Amino acid sequence: MSRTYNVTLIPGDGTGPEIVEAARRCIEATGVKMNWEVVHAGVDIMEKAGTPLPDNVLESIRKNKVALKGPITTPIGTGFRSVNVAIRKELDLYACLRPCRTYKGVRSRYQNIDLVVVRENTEDLYAGIEFEEGKPETKDIIAAIEKGSKKKIRPDSGVSIKPISRSGTERIVRFAFEYAIKNKRKKVTAVTKANIMKFTDGLFYEVARKVSKSYEGKVEYEERLVDNMCMQLVQKPELYDVLVLPNLYGDIISDLCAGLIGGLGIAPGANIGKDIAVFEAVHGSAPKYKGQNKVNPTAVILSGVLMLDYLGETEASKRLEKAVSDVIAEGKSVTYDLKPDRNDLTAVGTSQMADAIISRLRI
Ligand code: NAD
Repeated sequence: MSRTYNVTLIPGDGTGPEIVEAARRCIEATGVKMNWEVVHAGVDIMEKAGTPLPDNVLESIRKNKVALKGPITTPIGTGFRSVNVAIRKELDLYACLRPCRTYKGVRSRYQNIDLVVVRENTEDLYAGIEFEEGKPETKDIIAAIEKGSKKKIRPDSGVSIKPISRSGTERIVRFAFEYAIKNKRKKVTAVTKANIMKFTDGLFYEVARKVSKSYEGKVEYEERLVDNMCMQLVQKPELYDVLVLPNLYGDIISDLCAGLIGGLGIAPGANIGKDIAVFEAVHGSAPKYKGQNKVNPTAVILSGVLMLDYLGETEASKRLEKAVSDVIAEGKSVTYDLKPDRNDLTAVGTSQMADAIISRLRI
């Protein structure tokens, strides 16, 4: 008898609920049995629960170990930090995985892109260790840094701290190599700015080199400085395979790579920890399109493809990806952003694109 998976389903807010519903239907149409536990996070639940991240959300993910999540708005200026960042931090989802592949039929300046970005998710300038300009604790930290480093910091500075650890680097680089092996990829490129930040990015390289030794002969290893990497990706993306990066560079480069494959509507992602994984699109909640059955569900559906693969349902994962790819290549039942002209009247809605993918799965 086939197995039923317990999976947490977070519809999110803005256009989240529409695209997550589309993805849920597509995943179920593969025949893999899912027992969805639906929990709510984001601006819509905030009024009722008093928080955009009620306790039952993290409890459910901890229990089920796997979640499919819609995008969640980060309200500006309300004092709430990002729910998305909070989930990654609370559950120590240290690896952010973003495969970027060209699908035939998506308009892009580039063809045949096949890159995988592995971004460290918990350290670096995104650790949230910040000191506001003018605060007494900021003055203390400036004084301590000046004493320890013999370098001057202007007294009217704000300070953000960039921690990069040996252990944090080791696990993310190992993740990248293991991913490469499992997915038959040939090369891992570590990307930093180690010529300038010797003790943080330099440490990242030192550890990455050491880890790479245990994969010698199986997966190639190389290094690129992040500024050069940006130019290389724009000029010769075909030279690269799996990229592993500290948090900030990973964030920026993964948007660059989403641009190479034709935009956010089709870029899937996963946040993976030791034994928990949360799958979500790269894009945000696109709130201006909320409730219009308009936006592209592909990125969340492809996040579902990654989830099926993670669960070991490789065959279903491949079938779903092929169905998505066929529908996009045909170009008929696709949302406005995948049409040659954004005002194309033949564009279909979110749920109709899901219907087309489901029909393909049934062929
Ligand atoms: P966004 O990704 O929501 O939207 C930017 C633009 O990209 C949209 O206006 C739309 O034109 C296009 N777009 C995005 N998704 C699309 C889709 N599925 N189909 C077609 N077009 C699509 O970025 P934003 O406007 O900067 O962010 C909105 C909110 O989402 C913010 O509060 C932000 O913090 C949050 N956000 C959440 C996540 C997450 O949940 N992981 C990620 C990024 C941003």
